Amino acid sequence: MKQGGKLKRIIQSMHFRVLIVLLLIGLAPVFLMKGGILNGFEEQTVSMRASMIRNQCSRLSADIIDAGYLQDGSSDVVDKELNQIADLYSGRVILVNSRYEIIRDTYLLDVGKTIIARELIECFQGKTTDYYNAENDFIEVVCPVTEETTKAVVGAFIVSIPTTDIIVARRNLSRDVLILEVVLIGLIIAASIYSSRLLVRPFRKVTAMMNSGGTDFLSDDISMPEYTETALLSEAYNQMRHRLQAQEESRQMFVSNVSHELKTPMTSMKVLSDSLIQQAEFGEVPNELYHEFMIDIGEEIDRENKIITDLLDLVKMDRNSPDIHIEDTNINDLIGLILKRLRPIAAKRGIEIALESYKPIIAQVDQTKFTLAVSNLVENGIKYNKENGWVHISLNVDSTYFFVKVQDSGIGIPLQDQEQIFERFYRVDKSHSREIGGTGLGLAITRQAVLMHHGAIRVYSREGEGTTFTVRIPLRYSEQEAEEV
Ligand code: ADP
Repeated sequence: MKQGGKLKRIIQSMHFRVLIVLLLIGLAPVFLMKGGILNGFEEQTVSMRASMIRNQCSRLSADIIDAGYLQDGSSDVVDKELNQIADLYSGRVILVNSRYEIIRDTYLLDVGKTIIARELIECFQGKTTDYYNAENDFIEVVCPVTEETTKAVVGAFIVSIPTTDIIVARRNLSRDVLILEVVLIGLIIAASIYSSRLLVRPFRKVTAMMNSGGTDFLSDDISMPEYTETALLSEAYNQMRHRLQAQEESRQMFVSNVSHELKTPMTSMKVLSDSLIQQAEFGEVPNELYHEFMIDIGEEIDRENKIITDLLDLVKMDRNSPDIHIEDTNINDLIGLILKRLRPIAAKRGIEIALESYKPIIAQVDQTKFTLAVSNLVENGIKYNKENGWVHISLNVDSTYFFVKVQDSGIGIPLQDQEQIFERFYRVDKSHSREIGGTGLGLAITRQAVLMHHGAIRVYSREGEGTTFTVRIPLRYSEQEAEEV
């Protein structure tokens, strides 16, 4: 099983595939080469030999005609020459006249006989034929005896010669080619293994670099510019590493912020209770002081409670949390309810809350999360406002989105802080926020809730003049990825 897996890994590896491709490309010509060389040699030698025979016959043609050999078959010179050709190639030469009678046969077997063959008939029509019979190892050349002046074909040579020497030479050549083939195959295999290793080396290196970092996200960036692919791979890896690094830093910061925020009310309570105990040691503590300290301790408990509630809300709003209950909701009514709850709080500081809505809006939202998001914005509008100020909420809608605008006449947010206010525990003025019961989590919760609805939130503010938050949420909820703010 384990071995099978290893084999599969090897087969699936890029190294193996590159090696196979290189071997195929390298070896295919070597295998084809053998046939090509041997066949080429054979064809070439046969055709050279046939052409030499034709030349010799055509040279002999003149002597045959001059000697009137075709008429009486008597000429020692011609006989000699015909025998010479036959001896030269260890073959047989037959001379035929225009009546297809054999005038001369160097084997002396068929003189006087008549011979009719397709090649012969074609020869008398002026065509030369070469025929190579590889199975029986001979070449047959049929060529004409032509009258010099009239160009008339008056006779024909039939020359057949054995090709044993060609076959032997082919065999020898085949052995040499085989040796060459073996050497070439060896060289190609070695070169393919070397080149395939060389080709995949950058990928190996990049993997080794990625592994060498281990869990230490702060280790150096990797760089492998050898190939575009490895350069892109290292770039993507570095980007992912930076993202993880940022995530890890933010997680650590969050944990330390949470512990700090949770500890602060505890420390206050401890100081208050310690001082009561201390005072009790020196005598009777007045009831009013007890009362006052108890109220302070109660406030610190409320604060602790608020931080824990906000933290739980934030955790529920985690982007990866599947906990979302979408319902068709009348947004005008829902916001009406939120404002009804907040109006008494605003009234304490003489702050006027007004809702402006043009059309009824029905949208798919998670009512609890959407309520949290809007409540936080309106609460902030009240908290960071002047006495007798105002908070205006307006609702709008188009074919795809609805919009909630929360505008206040408050203290505003300095430009340099506007980007960070959505971060967890970020507060422009820490002590002021604490004084008015802020935890620094409200806008983080709002942003997260808006993102869960695949919406967007923006802030516009001028210090001393007021702040406007605008929220845009799709009317229909879909499972797609959330938009970035
Ligand atoms: P907090 O609980 O402190 O209000 P938030 O996350 O709701 O925390 O807001 C973060 C910070 O942004 C606040 O501490 C405050 O300084 C600033 N802020 C938020 N809303 C407003 C607003 N409407 N006007 C002025 N400042 C605001």
